[in-house]
Amino acid sequence: MITVKPAALQRIAAAVFHKAGSAPTEAEAISTRLVGANLSGHDSHGVVRIPRYVELMRTGGIAVNQHAKTVFENDTIAVIDGQFGFGQVIGAEAMAIGIAKAKKTGVAVVALRHSSHLGRIGDWAEACAEAGYASIHFVNVVGAGAIVAPFGGGDRRISTNPFSAGMPVTGGDPIILDMATSKLAEGKVLVAKNKGVEVVEGAIIDGERQPTLDPNKLYDPPVGALLPFGEHKGYGLAVFCDLLAGILSGGQTNHPGVPIKGRVLNNMLSIILDPAPGGDPAGVKREVDSFVAWLKGSPPLREGSEVMVPGEPERRARRERISGVPLDDTTWSNILATAAELGVAKSDVDALLRSNH
Ligand code: NAD
Repeated sequence: MITVKPAALQRIAAAVFHKAGSAPTEAEAISTRLVGANLSGHDSHGVVRIPRYVELMRTGGIAVNQHAKTVFENDTIAVIDGQFGFGQVIGAEAMAIGIAKAKKTGVAVVALRHSSHLGRIGDWAEACAEAGYASIHFVNVVGAGAIVAPFGGGDRRISTNPFSAGMPVTGGDPIILDMATSKLAEGKVLVAKNKGVEVVEGAIIDGERQPTLDPNKLYDPPVGALLPFGEHKGYGLAVFCDLLAGILSGGQTNHPGVPIKGRVLNNMLSIILDPAPGGDPAGVKREVDSFVAWLKGSPPLREGSEVMVPGEPERRARRERISGVPLDDTTWSNILATAAELGVAKSDVDALLRSNH
């Protein structure tokens, strides 16, 4: 295990993406979001992705230095093509377009298609909340992303289709729900594989359709599959992530007829709403505060258990990890190997690691 200061990690990641072909602003956006995911406690969506992203840049799976392209719009709706560009850039641009519309009309619907990996979807609910807007985000993955079995089925048909929602609280912490609709996000299985630990029960089946705790069974042939959370209910939400994100954006749902090879693309339907259309943001805060206090007042189910609200674990992780992000040895050596292959000097990496930032 190694612990790296967030700023040093971000600069190492930025150096890698810049060497791989991203303009400095793009390298900055990707590395900031990846380290932000580590800081939020979601190592699955953090710097562990560097080797994969770089490989996709090499093969053309991700198009570098692209921007969100609006292909249709009216006062409330924008349909945006991500042009296979980095989700860290495309997602931010799509949200800025939606927030600008919501400022005028109180509500905006953004249907984004063909973005490369959008990372933590909570980033986009947080961006809306920071601007003062509530939001709902349905996301699917097309291309090489189908890795989840449908409820009752025994092989990979859909993706981990994440769902996120955010409620801003003026002068307080927003409530942010951000989750995969599979019991585990795929990246969490990858992290377990890298650490050599088991995954929780009910999360994966092996290639023989048998339940297993071994993360390798998801990847080793015959490949296994992730299972939806909450049986038919999580599966039902995943179906709607595919339908809403895939169809309204034109980015398509998961099936073999989708002509996308060698890419992992996200489509996202975002609904952005003024939480106080009557003009009383203080009233929103009062109501959220009362609701949260009521939830947290529940007696503990077990000794030591407590009630949190969605988004709270990520805030706690940010407080804990601000002094250093822990990385397992496999993840760290994979990052160093990628950096070395691209010609990022070992001395530069070491200097950044030693620096006090
Ligand atoms: P998770 O299970 O860790 O958390 C899900 C949600 O539950 C979060 O909002 C969290 O704040 C909340 N939560 C966690 N513990 C809680 C508790 N004890 N009490 C109250 N709330 C609690 O998240 P996940 O499903 O593993 O997803 C991880 C990340 O993967 C997310 O950021 C998601 O967007 C991302 N993801 C992205 C893609 C993609 O294609 N871009 C696909 C799948 C997942």
